[in-house]
Order: sequence, then structure tokens, then C-alpha cells
Amino acid sequence: MNGTELNLPPLAYGPDTAVEPAPVKTGRTVRNARLRTVQHIHTVVMSGAGFLGLISAVLLAVLVQPVSGLALAIFLVSFLLVGMGLTIGYHRLFTHRSYKAGTALRMTLAALGCMAGQGPVVFWVALHRMHHEFSDRAGDPHSPNLNGQGRWAQLRGLFHAYIGWTVKHEVPNANFYARDLLTDAPLMWVNRRYYLWVALGLLLPTAAGGLIGGSAYAALEGLLWGGLIRMFALHNVIWWITSFAHVFGSRDFRSRDLSTNNFWLAIPTLGESWHNNHHGFPRAAVLSFRWWQLDLSGLVILSLEKLGLVWEVNRPTPAEQAARRAILPTE
Ligand SMILES: [Zn+2]
Ligand SMILES: [Zn+2]
Repeated sequence: MNGTELNLPPLAYGPDTAVEPAPVKTGRTVRNARLRTVQHIHTVVMSGAGFLGLISAVLLAVLVQPVSGLALAIFLVSFLLVGMGLTIGYHRLFTHRSYKAGTALRMTLAALGCMAGQGPVVFWVALHRMHHEFSDRAGDPHSPNLNGQGRWAQLRGLFHAYIGWTVKHEVPNANFYARDLLTDAPLMWVNRRYYLWVALGLLLPTAAGGLIGGSAYAALEGLLWGGLIRMFALHNVIWWITSFAHVFGSRDFRSRDLSTNNFWLAIPTLGESWHNNHHGFPRAAVLSFRWWQLDLSGLVILSLEKLGLVWEVNRPTPAEQAARRAILPTE
């Protein structure tokens, strides 16, 4: 796929998106078969390691001893920290620039996001901006809605958007999609050390388990629950969004795609399942537009704002929301 071949209108990003099309005439994807293969192998290794971790933990829990409270606590802390690295870091800060933060916080969020094993920040951002540019049209790396009509076609689309895309997508051109990040020296410092952060993401929970639990078994549980299973869980969280949040659920806002809001995924996705809200207002730092829409990541951003650690937090006004709200039969 190449930008010149697609002959798309230059809309790229709507007025709600901070990302201006890069002022370079270059393809949207990189034509490099080896790089493409390497990226696909990376996904298989990272998600496969997480799955093997889950199998191992289940076997240990059945054959050796039940899962300890410490292991579950380490999982929860690790899930929240690395998950926030993805949601408030990779997604809302680096992809959509929905707020501003100082260098130390930016680097911390990027390093936490790297620990998820979903690729370095520049790659993740480029791929996600590509999704927003083409969402649910040809060129979207993970749309569930491009396989045609009929039950089987829709099921195939759902499978593609859930996991199939991870070994099929083209390599997004960071020079086109993430030029702003390539010139961000502190961020690139973190980006270049991606595998170090992935390793630390496994090492830290192992150390925590060993030191707090005081045994090699507790260290192993720390590795499995705080490292590998956490990685497996966060891969699935993202895959729920790429698939379910473009098929099931409600559509409160008019957007150019078929994105949906899903109440039942709000907690495990840390607020990202308000995906129609997000596509309606890609630059919004907080995705909760109703009092009952729980957005844990948005609450963290607002708390950081109160502490003075982040600023220029983008929030659409009620009038802006009303102007874009879909005309629903009940309203
Ligand atoms: Zn989407
Ligand atoms: Zn987004």
C-alpha cells in the first residue's frame, strides 16, 4: 500500500485531531518484506509468551499450590501501571497529544508502555494513527467491517480485527505518521531501548515476588502473573478494542467509522472502550462524556492535572459534544 496509489482525499485527520499530515511526500507504509516479517514475528513471540505464561500458571495452580494473593496483587499493580503506559501514554499523549506533560513523565509513560510488548512507542503510534486515518475503510490495519456482508464474512472480519491483523498488517511509515516523535530526543532515547523495558517489565515483578514472598516460587509467580499474564491480558485488552469496539455496543457520536461504546469493557480497558466517544473526539483526554461512563485513564489524567504534572488537557465542551451527538431514536 502506498499513499500515492490509494488516491485518498487529503482529510487524513479531522479538525479534532492534533496530528497534521506530515509535510513530506512519502508512502504511508514501508515496503520491506524483512521488516514486515520481523514485526509479525515480534507479535507472535510476545503474545505467545504471554499465553504460555498463562498455561504455566494454571498448571502450577492445579498441580502445585493455589495462586497466592501476592501474585494477584503483583498482577494488578503491573496491569495498572503498564496499562496506563498504553492508555494515557502511548494512546492519549503520544498518538493524539490530548494533553501536555514534562519530560520525566513522558519518558516514564513511554517506558511503561514499552513493557506491554506491543512494539516501541513510535511503531505503535504510527499504526494507530493509520487506524484513525482510514478507520473502517480500505487501509485500516484492523477493521472488522471490511469483509463483506453475511454471518461468516462478519465473523472472519471479527477474527481479523481481533488477532489476525497482527500478522497481516503493513509496516506503517514512521516518517509519515510519527514525524513529531522522531524529532523528540528524550522519547527516542526510550524508543531505542524498547527491549530493555520489555525485560524490565518481566524482571521487576519477578524481583517483587521474590523479595516480598521470600521464595523462588514467589519469584516465579511474580514473573508469571506480573510479567507474562499481564502481557497476555493487555494484548487482549487492545484486541478487544480493535475488534469489539468497532462492531458491538452503542454509537453516541457521528464519526466516519463504525466505532462503538462498550460499557462492559470500561473497567478492564481502563476507559478505552468508550471508543465511539474517542473516534468522535480523537483529541479528548477524558473519554467519559456521561456521568456513568467510567474512564479510569481519564481520572488519572485529571488527577495529574490537579497535581500540576500535566496541562493543556483537551476536553470537548458540552456544546461541541451536542453538535456531534448522533440523533438517536430516543432523543
Ligand atoms: Zn477505532
Ligand atoms: Zn486513538
